[in-house]
Amino acid sequence: MKYKYANTESGVRRFVICRRNIMNNPLESARQQLTEVQSILKINPNIFERLLYPERMIEVAVAVTMDDGTTKVFTGYRSQHNNARGPYKGGIRFHLGVTRGEVMALSMWMTWKTAVVDIPLGGGKGGVVVDAKKLSDRELEALSRGYMRAIFPLVGKNQDIPAPDVSTDARVMGWMLDEYETLSRESSSGVITGKPLSLGGSLGRDYATAQGAFYVLERAAAKLHLGKVATVAIQGFGNGGGHLARMLEKAGYRVVAIADSKSTVYRSGGLDVKEVDEHKRVTGTLKTCVGCEKLPSEAVLSLPADILVPAALENALHAGNANAVQAKLIVEIANGPTTPEAEEILLGKGITVVPDILANAGGVVVSYFEQVQNAMNYFWTEAEVNVKLKEKMETAFEAVWNEKERYNTSVRMGAYALAVKRVAQAMQDRGRI
Ligand code: NAD
Repeated sequence: MKYKYANTESGVRRFVICRRNIMNNPLESARQQLTEVQSILKINPNIFERLLYPERMIEVAVAVTMDDGTTKVFTGYRSQHNNARGPYKGGIRFHLGVTRGEVMALSMWMTWKTAVVDIPLGGGKGGVVVDAKKLSDRELEALSRGYMRAIFPLVGKNQDIPAPDVSTDARVMGWMLDEYETLSRESSSGVITGKPLSLGGSLGRDYATAQGAFYVLERAAAKLHLGKVATVAIQGFGNGGGHLARMLEKAGYRVVAIADSKSTVYRSGGLDVKEVDEHKRVTGTLKTCVGCEKLPSEAVLSLPADILVPAALENALHAGNANAVQAKLIVEIANGPTTPEAEEILLGKGITVVPDILANAGGVVVSYFEQVQNAMNYFWTEAEVNVKLKEKMETAFEAVWNEKERYNTSVRMGAYALAVKRVAQAMQDRGRI
Protein backbone atom coordinates (compact mmCIF):
# COMPACT_ATOMS: atom_id res chain seq x y z
CA MET A 1 0.00 0.00 0.00
CA LYS A 2 1.23 3.49 -0.75
CA TYR A 3 -0.06 7.05 -0.74
CA LYS A 4 -0.50 9.55 -3.47
CA TYR A 5 -2.17 12.91 -3.69
CA ALA A 6 -5.46 12.96 -5.56
CA ASN A 7 -7.89 15.73 -6.39
CA THR A 8 -11.24 15.05 -4.79
CA GLU A 9 -14.55 16.12 -6.28
CA SER A 10 -14.48 19.27 -4.15
CA GLY A 11 -11.08 20.10 -5.62
CA VAL A 12 -9.27 19.54 -2.30
CA ARG A 13 -6.08 17.55 -2.62
CA ARG A 14 -6.11 14.67 -0.19
CA PHE A 15 -3.90 11.74 0.62
CA VAL A 16 -5.38 8.51 -0.67
CA ILE A 17 -3.98 5.05 -0.50
CA CYS A 18 -2.99 3.24 -3.65
CA ARG A 19 -1.59 -0.25 -3.93
CA ARG A 20 1.77 -0.54 -5.63
CA ASN A 21 5.25 -1.60 -4.70
CA ILE A 22 6.23 0.19 -1.56
CA MET A 23 9.48 2.04 -1.05
CA ASN A 24 10.82 1.99 2.48
CA ASN A 25 9.80 5.51 3.37
CA PRO A 26 9.15 6.12 7.09
CA LEU A 27 6.61 8.87 6.44
CA GLU A 28 4.62 6.60 4.15
CA SER A 29 4.79 3.85 6.75
CA ALA A 30 3.60 6.23 9.47
CA ARG A 31 0.71 7.50 7.34
CA GLN A 32 -0.21 4.01 6.27
CA GLN A 33 -0.35 2.84 9.89
CA LEU A 34 -2.61 5.77 10.77
CA THR A 35 -4.87 5.02 7.80
CA GLU A 36 -5.05 1.38 8.78
CA VAL A 37 -6.22 2.20 12.29
CA GLN A 38 -8.69 4.72 10.91
CA SER A 39 -10.39 1.87 9.03
CA ILE A 40 -11.04 0.27 12.44
CA LEU A 41 -11.75 3.37 14.54
CA LYS A 42 -13.45 5.69 12.08
CA ILE A 43 -12.58 8.82 14.05
CA ASN A 44 -13.84 12.17 12.80
CA PRO A 45 -12.40 12.38 9.25
CA ASN A 46 -11.36 16.01 9.76
CA ILE A 47 -9.26 15.06 12.75
CA PHE A 48 -7.79 12.14 10.80
CA GLU A 49 -6.86 14.47 7.94
CA ARG A 50 -5.05 16.85 10.33
CA LEU A 51 -3.15 13.98 11.94
CA LEU A 52 -1.52 13.01 8.63
CA TYR A 53 0.60 16.19 8.79
CA PRO A 54 2.85 17.83 11.37
CA GLU A 55 1.42 21.12 12.63
CA ARG A 56 4.77 22.82 11.96
CA MET A 57 7.95 21.79 10.19
CA ILE A 58 11.03 23.97 9.96
CA GLU A 59 14.26 23.53 8.08
CA VAL A 60 17.38 25.29 9.36
CA ALA A 61 20.90 25.83 8.06
CA VAL A 62 23.51 25.50 10.80
CA ALA A 63 26.89 27.03 9.95
CA VAL A 64 29.86 25.56 11.80
CA THR A 65 33.46 26.74 11.68
CA MET A 66 35.42 23.52 11.31
CA ASP A 67 38.79 22.89 12.93
CA ASP A 68 40.58 23.61 9.64
CA GLY A 69 39.07 27.11 9.52
CA THR A 70 36.53 26.38 6.75
CA THR A 71 32.79 26.83 7.25
CA LYS A 72 30.39 23.93 6.72
CA VAL A 73 26.62 24.33 6.62
CA PHE A 74 24.53 21.46 8.00
CA THR A 75 20.82 21.04 7.25
CA GLY A 76 18.58 20.49 10.25
CA TYR A 77 14.86 20.03 10.87
CA ARG A 78 12.36 20.26 13.69
CA SER A 79 8.91 18.79 13.16
CA GLN A 80 6.06 19.52 15.59
CA HIS A 81 3.36 16.99 14.85
CA ASN A 82 0.70 17.47 17.50
CA ASN A 83 0.33 19.24 20.86
CA ALA A 84 -3.31 18.54 21.69
CA ARG A 85 -2.34 16.56 24.83
CA GLY A 86 0.61 18.75 25.85
CA PRO A 87 3.82 20.40 24.57
CA TYR A 88 5.61 18.80 21.62
CA LYS A 89 8.17 16.26 22.82
CA GLY A 90 10.85 14.37 20.93
CA GLY A 91 14.52 13.69 20.42
CA ILE A 92 17.16 15.21 18.18
CA ARG A 93 19.02 12.89 15.83
CA PHE A 94 22.44 13.55 14.29
CA HIS A 95 22.73 11.17 11.33
CA LEU A 96 23.56 11.20 7.63
CA GLY A 97 20.26 9.45 6.87
CA VAL A 98 18.12 12.26 8.36
CA THR A 99 15.53 13.57 5.88
CA ARG A 100 12.56 15.89 6.09
CA GLY A 101 10.18 12.93 5.70
CA GLU A 102 11.96 10.85 8.31
CA VAL A 103 11.75 13.64 10.89
CA MET A 104 8.05 14.15 10.11
CA ALA A 105 7.39 10.41 10.57
CA LEU A 106 9.35 10.30 13.82
CA SER A 107 7.38 13.27 15.18
CA MET A 108 4.12 11.51 14.34
CA TRP A 109 5.28 8.37 16.15
CA MET A 110 6.11 10.54 19.18
CA THR A 111 2.51 11.76 19.30
CA TRP A 112 1.29 8.16 19.50
CA LYS A 113 4.01 7.16 21.94
CA THR A 114 3.23 9.85 24.52
CA ALA A 115 -0.47 8.98 24.18
CA VAL A 116 0.05 5.20 24.56
CA VAL A 117 1.84 5.68 27.88
CA ASP A 118 -0.63 8.41 28.81
CA ILE A 119 1.73 11.28 29.63
CA PRO A 120 0.63 14.90 29.09
CA LEU A 121 2.87 15.60 26.09
CA GLY A 122 2.55 15.69 22.31
CA GLY A 123 4.88 14.67 19.49
CA GLY A 124 7.89 16.37 17.93
CA LYS A 125 11.28 15.39 16.52
CA GLY A 126 14.45 17.01 15.26
CA GLY A 127 17.44 16.00 13.24
CA VAL A 128 20.60 17.21 11.55
CA VAL A 129 22.09 15.62 8.44
CA VAL A 130 25.62 14.88 9.66
CA ASP A 131 28.01 12.06 10.36
CA ALA A 132 28.64 13.01 13.98
CA LYS A 133 31.47 10.48 14.29
CA LYS A 134 33.52 12.58 11.85
CA LEU A 135 33.29 15.76 13.99
CA SER A 136 35.80 16.73 16.65
CA ASP A 137 34.39 17.47 20.12
CA ARG A 138 34.66 21.19 19.42
CA GLU A 139 32.83 20.88 16.09
CA LEU A 140 30.11 18.73 17.70
CA GLU A 141 29.59 21.34 20.42
CA ALA A 142 29.42 24.13 17.82
CA LEU A 143 26.84 22.16 15.82
CA SER A 144 24.75 21.41 18.93
CA ARG A 145 24.74 25.05 20.01
CA GLY A 146 24.09 26.27 16.45
CA TYR A 147 21.13 23.91 16.04
CA MET A 148 19.65 25.08 19.36
CA ARG A 149 20.07 28.74 18.29
CA ALA A 150 18.26 27.93 15.04
CA ILE A 151 15.24 26.27 16.66
CA PHE A 152 15.25 28.50 19.78
CA PRO A 153 12.03 30.43 18.93
CA LEU A 154 10.06 27.16 18.80
CA VAL A 155 11.44 25.54 21.93
CA GLY A 156 10.35 25.96 25.55
CA LYS A 157 9.30 23.86 28.53
CA ASN A 158 5.66 24.61 27.71
CA GLN A 159 6.19 24.54 23.92
CA ASP A 160 8.57 21.89 22.66
CA ILE A 161 11.00 19.83 24.72
CA PRO A 162 13.90 18.10 22.93
CA ALA A 163 15.83 15.03 24.14
CA PRO A 164 18.62 12.74 22.86
CA ASP A 165 18.20 10.29 19.99
CA VAL A 166 20.62 8.55 17.60
CA SER A 167 24.16 9.93 18.02
CA THR A 168 23.17 12.58 20.55
CA ASP A 169 23.58 12.10 24.29
CA ALA A 170 23.55 13.82 27.69
CA ARG A 171 26.65 15.85 26.80
CA VAL A 172 24.94 17.24 23.69
CA MET A 173 21.83 18.03 25.74
CA GLY A 174 24.01 19.88 28.26
CA TRP A 175 25.43 22.14 25.51
CA MET A 176 21.97 22.74 24.09
CA LEU A 177 20.55 23.60 27.52
CA ASP A 178 23.38 26.06 28.12
CA GLU A 179 22.77 27.70 24.74
CA TYR A 180 19.02 27.93 25.40
CA GLU A 181 19.53 29.48 28.84
CA THR A 182 22.09 31.94 27.48
CA LEU A 183 19.58 33.12 24.86
CA SER A 184 16.55 33.16 27.16
CA ARG A 185 18.55 34.66 30.07
CA GLU A 186 16.80 32.44 32.59
CA SER A 187 17.35 29.09 34.24
CA SER A 188 15.05 26.62 32.54
CA SER A 189 16.24 23.06 33.04
CA GLY A 190 12.84 21.56 32.06
CA VAL A 191 13.30 22.74 28.47
CA ILE A 192 15.37 19.70 27.57
CA THR A 193 15.52 16.15 28.93
CA GLY A 194 18.21 13.49 28.93
CA LYS A 195 20.51 16.09 30.50
CA PRO A 196 23.56 15.27 32.63
CA LEU A 197 22.65 14.69 36.30
CA SER A 198 24.64 17.79 37.25
CA LEU A 199 22.23 19.92 35.19
CA GLY A 200 18.98 18.45 36.51
CA GLY A 201 18.87 15.14 34.66
CA SER A 202 16.96 12.20 36.12
CA LEU A 203 18.50 9.09 37.57
CA GLY A 204 17.65 6.15 35.33
CA ARG A 205 17.18 8.27 32.19
CA ASP A 206 20.29 6.98 30.39
CA TYR A 207 18.98 3.40 30.28
CA ALA A 208 15.23 4.15 30.47
CA THR A 209 14.40 3.14 26.89
CA ALA A 210 15.91 -0.29 27.41
CA GLN A 211 14.38 -0.61 30.89
CA GLY A 212 10.93 0.16 29.52
CA ALA A 213 11.47 -2.31 26.66
CA PHE A 214 12.56 -4.91 29.20
CA TYR A 215 9.30 -4.56 31.20
CA VAL A 216 7.26 -4.81 28.00
CA LEU A 217 9.28 -7.74 26.66
CA GLU A 218 8.70 -9.65 29.92
CA ARG A 219 4.93 -9.09 29.66
CA ALA A 220 4.81 -10.07 25.99
CA ALA A 221 6.97 -13.16 26.58
CA ALA A 222 4.58 -14.22 29.35
CA LYS A 223 1.57 -13.83 27.02
CA LEU A 224 3.34 -16.11 24.50
CA HIS A 225 4.45 -18.53 27.25
CA LEU A 226 8.12 -17.95 26.49
CA GLY A 227 10.07 -18.51 29.70
CA LYS A 228 13.41 -17.14 30.86
CA VAL A 229 15.07 -19.86 28.75
CA ALA A 230 14.08 -17.83 25.68
CA THR A 231 16.89 -16.87 23.31
CA VAL A 232 17.26 -13.30 22.08
CA ALA A 233 18.90 -11.65 19.05
CA ILE A 234 19.54 -7.89 19.17
CA GLN A 235 20.24 -5.64 16.19
CA GLY A 236 22.02 -2.49 17.40
CA PHE A 237 24.40 -2.28 20.35
CA GLY A 238 24.06 1.38 21.27
CA ASN A 239 22.08 3.08 24.01
CA GLY A 240 18.90 1.01 23.47
CA GLY A 241 20.23 -2.39 22.36
CA GLY A 242 23.33 -2.37 24.57
CA HIS A 243 21.51 -1.68 27.82
CA LEU A 244 18.79 -4.21 26.96
CA ALA A 245 21.37 -6.93 26.23
CA ARG A 246 22.89 -6.41 29.69
CA MET A 247 19.47 -6.42 31.40
CA LEU A 248 18.32 -9.57 29.60
CA GLU A 249 21.51 -11.46 30.42
CA LYS A 250 21.22 -10.42 34.08
CA ALA A 251 17.59 -11.61 34.14
CA GLY A 252 18.61 -15.05 32.83
CA TYR A 253 17.74 -14.85 29.13
CA ARG A 254 20.23 -16.20 26.60
CA VAL A 255 21.37 -13.39 24.29
CA VAL A 256 22.59 -15.44 21.31
CA ALA A 257 23.25 -12.69 18.74
CA ILE A 258 24.27 -9.05 18.80
CA ALA A 259 24.82 -6.86 15.74
CA ASP A 260 26.20 -3.41 15.14
CA SER A 261 26.37 -1.64 11.78
CA LYS A 262 29.43 -3.70 10.73
CA SER A 263 28.79 -7.29 11.86
CA THR A 264 26.86 -9.82 13.92
CA VAL A 265 28.33 -12.06 16.59
CA TYR A 266 26.40 -15.27 17.24
CA ARG A 267 26.70 -18.17 19.64
CA SER A 268 23.79 -20.57 19.91
CA GLY A 269 24.51 -21.30 23.58
CA GLY A 270 24.48 -17.59 24.47
CA LEU A 271 27.05 -14.80 24.30
CA ASP A 272 28.91 -13.34 27.27
CA VAL A 273 27.40 -9.85 26.96
CA LYS A 274 29.91 -8.32 29.38
CA GLU A 275 32.77 -9.61 27.24
CA VAL A 276 31.19 -8.36 24.00
CA ASP A 277 30.57 -5.01 25.67
CA GLU A 278 34.11 -4.65 26.98
CA HIS A 279 35.61 -5.47 23.60
CA LYS A 280 33.30 -3.07 21.76
CA ARG A 281 34.16 -0.32 24.23
CA VAL A 282 37.90 -0.80 23.84
CA THR A 283 38.20 -1.61 20.11
CA GLY A 284 34.97 -0.23 18.64
CA THR A 285 34.19 -3.62 17.07
CA LEU A 286 32.23 -6.73 18.02
CA LYS A 287 34.44 -9.55 19.17
CA THR A 288 34.62 -13.07 17.84
CA CYS A 289 35.02 -15.50 20.71
CA VAL A 290 35.49 -19.22 21.18
CA GLY A 291 32.44 -20.87 19.64
CA CYS A 292 31.20 -17.56 18.17
CA GLU A 293 30.46 -16.93 14.55
CA LYS A 294 31.09 -13.52 13.05
CA LEU A 295 28.48 -12.86 10.37
CA PRO A 296 27.36 -9.94 8.22
CA SER A 297 25.39 -7.30 10.10
CA GLU A 298 21.99 -8.13 8.58
CA ALA A 299 22.32 -11.85 9.50
CA VAL A 300 21.09 -11.02 13.01
CA LEU A 301 17.53 -10.69 11.72
CA SER A 302 17.23 -14.26 10.48
CA LEU A 303 19.18 -16.26 13.08
CA PRO A 304 17.38 -18.83 15.24
CA ALA A 305 16.21 -16.94 18.35
CA ASP A 306 12.84 -16.81 20.13
CA ILE A 307 12.88 -13.03 20.48
CA LEU A 308 14.25 -10.49 18.00
CA VAL A 309 14.92 -6.90 19.08
CA PRO A 310 15.58 -4.42 16.26
CA ALA A 311 17.38 -1.57 18.03
CA ALA A 312 19.14 0.25 15.18
CA LEU A 313 17.30 2.27 12.55
CA GLU A 314 14.10 2.36 10.47
CA ASN A 315 13.15 -0.21 7.83
CA ALA A 316 15.42 -2.97 9.13
CA LEU A 317 12.65 -5.49 8.45
CA HIS A 318 11.24 -5.12 4.96
CA ALA A 319 9.46 -7.20 2.33
CA GLY A 320 12.81 -8.60 1.17
CA ASN A 321 13.91 -10.15 4.49
CA ALA A 322 10.80 -10.58 6.67
CA ASN A 323 10.20 -14.12 5.44
CA ALA A 324 13.55 -15.21 6.85
CA VAL A 325 12.73 -14.14 10.43
CA GLN A 326 12.64 -17.13 12.78
CA ALA A 327 11.65 -15.39 16.02
CA LYS A 328 8.23 -15.80 17.68
CA LEU A 329 8.29 -12.34 19.21
CA ILE A 330 9.68 -9.04 17.94
CA VAL A 331 10.12 -6.13 20.34
CA GLU A 332 10.87 -2.87 18.52
CA ILE A 333 13.33 -0.61 20.32
CA ALA A 334 14.18 1.25 17.10
CA ASN A 335 11.60 3.64 15.71
CA GLY A 336 9.92 2.25 12.60
CA PRO A 337 12.13 -0.82 12.10
CA THR A 338 9.33 -2.82 10.43
CA THR A 339 7.78 -1.67 7.15
CA PRO A 340 4.03 -2.29 6.74
CA GLU A 341 4.80 -4.93 4.07
CA ALA A 342 7.17 -6.71 6.43
CA GLU A 343 4.56 -6.61 9.19
CA GLU A 344 2.00 -8.27 6.93
CA ILE A 345 4.47 -11.08 6.26
CA LEU A 346 5.43 -11.43 9.93
CA LEU A 347 1.82 -11.53 11.11
CA GLY A 348 1.12 -14.13 8.41
CA LYS A 349 3.87 -16.26 9.94
CA GLY A 350 2.21 -15.95 13.37
CA ILE A 351 4.92 -13.68 14.78
CA THR A 352 3.88 -11.17 17.46
CA VAL A 353 5.31 -7.67 16.92
CA VAL A 354 5.33 -5.34 19.92
CA PRO A 355 5.51 -1.93 18.25
CA ASP A 356 7.96 0.90 18.82
CA ILE A 357 5.32 3.31 20.11
CA LEU A 358 4.89 1.00 23.11
CA ALA A 359 8.18 -0.90 23.36
CA ASN A 360 10.57 2.07 23.27
CA ALA A 361 8.41 4.53 25.22
CA GLY A 362 10.46 4.10 28.42
CA GLY A 363 12.80 6.89 27.32
CA VAL A 364 10.05 9.45 26.95
CA VAL A 365 8.38 8.31 30.17
CA VAL A 366 11.55 9.02 32.17
CA SER A 367 12.01 12.25 30.19
CA TYR A 368 8.58 13.22 31.50
CA PHE A 369 9.66 12.21 35.02
CA GLU A 370 12.74 14.40 34.52
CA GLN A 371 10.51 17.36 33.67
CA VAL A 372 8.30 16.69 36.68
CA GLN A 373 11.37 16.61 38.95
CA ASN A 374 12.69 19.82 37.35
CA ALA A 375 9.33 21.52 37.97
CA MET A 376 9.32 20.42 41.63
CA ASN A 377 13.05 21.08 41.96
CA TYR A 378 13.06 17.87 43.98
CA PHE A 379 14.61 14.62 42.78
CA TRP A 380 13.63 10.97 43.13
CA THR A 381 15.94 8.05 43.84
CA GLU A 382 16.79 5.68 41.00
CA ALA A 383 14.59 3.01 42.59
CA GLU A 384 11.62 5.43 42.71
CA VAL A 385 12.09 6.28 39.03
CA ASN A 386 12.15 2.61 38.04
CA VAL A 387 9.12 1.67 40.14
CA LYS A 388 7.14 4.47 38.45
CA LEU A 389 8.45 3.48 35.01
CA LYS A 390 7.49 -0.17 35.53
CA GLU A 391 4.00 0.81 36.54
CA LYS A 392 3.56 3.07 33.48
CA MET A 393 4.92 0.50 31.02
CA GLU A 394 2.93 -2.42 32.40
CA THR A 395 -0.29 -0.39 32.50
CA ALA A 396 0.29 0.69 28.90
CA PHE A 397 1.07 -2.87 27.81
CA GLU A 398 -2.17 -4.24 29.30
CA ALA A 399 -4.22 -1.37 27.82
CA VAL A 400 -2.72 -2.05 24.38
CA TRP A 401 -3.30 -5.79 24.70
CA ASN A 402 -6.96 -5.12 25.60
CA GLU A 403 -7.36 -2.96 22.47
CA LYS A 404 -5.74 -5.68 20.36
CA GLU A 405 -8.27 -8.21 21.71
CA ARG A 406 -11.18 -5.79 21.46
CA TYR A 407 -10.60 -5.08 17.77
CA ASN A 408 -9.19 -8.54 17.02
CA THR A 409 -6.11 -6.97 15.46
CA SER A 410 -2.32 -6.83 15.76
CA VAL A 411 -0.50 -5.43 18.81
CA ARG A 412 0.57 -2.46 16.66
CA MET A 413 -2.99 -1.64 15.70
CA GLY A 414 -4.04 -2.13 19.34
CA ALA A 415 -1.44 0.49 20.34
CA TYR A 416 -2.52 2.81 17.54
CA ALA A 417 -6.18 2.43 18.48
CA LEU A 418 -5.43 3.41 22.08
CA ALA A 419 -3.19 6.35 21.10
CA VAL A 420 -5.24 7.76 18.25
CA LYS A 421 -8.46 7.68 20.32
CA ARG A 422 -6.71 9.61 23.12
CA VAL A 423 -5.28 12.22 20.74
CA ALA A 424 -8.55 12.54 18.82
CA GLN A 425 -10.43 13.08 22.08
CA ALA A 426 -8.08 15.92 23.06
CA MET A 427 -8.46 17.50 19.61
CA GLN A 428 -12.22 17.17 19.79
CA ASP A 429 -12.25 18.77 23.26
CA ARG A 430 -10.19 21.69 21.91
CA GLY A 431 -12.54 22.10 18.97
CA ARG A 432 -9.72 21.29 16.53
CA ILE A 433 -11.89 19.60 13.95
P1 NAD B 1 22.77 4.57 19.19
O1 NAD B 1 23.38 5.51 18.21
O2 NAD B 1 23.20 4.63 20.61
O3 NAD B 1 23.01 3.05 18.69
C1 NAD B 1 22.63 2.58 17.45
C2 NAD B 1 23.25 1.19 17.25
O4 NAD B 1 22.74 0.64 16.03
C3 NAD B 1 24.77 1.19 17.12
O5 NAD B 1 25.28 0.04 17.78
C4 NAD B 1 25.00 1.03 15.62
O6 NAD B 1 26.24 0.38 15.31
C5 NAD B 1 23.83 0.14 15.27
N1 NAD B 1 23.47 0.18 13.86
C6 NAD B 1 23.32 1.25 13.04
N2 NAD B 1 22.99 0.84 11.80
C7 NAD B 1 22.92 -0.50 11.85
C8 NAD B 1 22.64 -1.52 10.93
N3 NAD B 1 22.33 -1.21 9.67
N4 NAD B 1 22.65 -2.81 11.33
C9 NAD B 1 22.95 -3.13 12.61
N5 NAD B 1 23.21 -2.22 13.55
C10 NAD B 1 23.21 -0.93 13.17
O7 NAD B 1 21.21 4.75 19.06
P2 NAD B 1 20.08 4.40 20.13
O8 NAD B 1 19.86 5.59 20.98
O9 NAD B 1 20.35 3.07 20.73
O10 NAD B 1 18.80 4.32 19.15
C11 NAD B 1 18.56 3.16 18.37
C12 NAD B 1 17.12 3.20 17.90
O11 NAD B 1 16.26 3.28 19.04
C13 NAD B 1 16.75 4.41 17.02
O12 NAD B 1 15.77 4.02 16.09
C14 NAD B 1 16.14 5.39 18.00
O13 NAD B 1 15.27 6.32 17.39
C15 NAD B 1 15.42 4.42 18.91
N6 NAD B 1 15.13 4.99 20.21
C16 NAD B 1 16.13 5.35 21.06
C17 NAD B 1 15.80 5.92 22.28
C18 NAD B 1 16.85 6.30 23.28
O14 NAD B 1 16.49 6.78 24.37
N7 NAD B 1 18.13 6.09 22.99
C19 NAD B 1 14.47 6.13 22.62
C20 NAD B 1 13.46 5.72 21.74
C21 NAD B 1 13.83 5.15 20.53
